[in-house]
Amino acid sequence: MNLILPSLPYKYDDMEPYIDEKTMKIHHDKHHRTYTNNVNNILSKFPEFDNITADKLITQIENLPDNIKTLIRNNIGGYINHNIFWKGLKIGTSLHGLLKKSIIKNFGSVELFKEIFENVSMSCFGSGWTWLVNQNNKLLVVKTSNQDNPMMGEFISGTFGYPIIGLDLWEHAYYLKYQNRRQDYIVSFWNIVNWDEASIRFGQSKNI
Ligand code: MN
Repeated sequence: MNLILPSLPYKYDDMEPYIDEKTMKIHHDKHHRTYTNNVNNILSKFPEFDNITADKLITQIENLPDNIKTLIRNNIGGYINHNIFWKGLKIGTSLHGLLKKSIIKNFGSVELFKEIFENVSMSCFGSGWTWLVNQNNKLLVVKTSNQDNPMMGEFISGTFGYPIIGLDLWEHAYYLKYQNRRQDYIVSFWNIVNWDEASIRFGQSKNI
């Protein structure tokens, strides 16, 4: 396996003023690169993983040898979570179509969904992520710790499902601009959610 760090699908300052250019640059070029390199370095010693994909590996954490389980869990999680996060950001899209209908059906209204997402995000102690997931054709807001991803399954991540949107709640994602004001960062997320990408992921989630 040789993971490639994908380029950002936009310029570093394209999410201004919600995510500042400096944070975006460090977050992508340093943090995401480190997760990528770490997976490649660890797995370079294990030829039996040469042909596995990242999407497959993340579902197989339970079955990994104990001596690399935690390292792979943290770093393949970091790799995939950030891939989802970058593609999930865009200014100027709107929630529409089947995903909008399904959110209203599952949460009562778009406003209630956003309120739940914000509350779950605020309840994250330390570092982690908030996700909108499809769990067996039901939409739910869940959180994971550290770099866990719902696709790792319940035993590892404490939850499961196919992620439709994800919000990075590590301080490295917002501290330069927002400092201790995590709530402001969380609320600002609604300005940059790429709902077109979320709709694509919602479509994919129904085939899982
Ligand atoms: Mn991050």
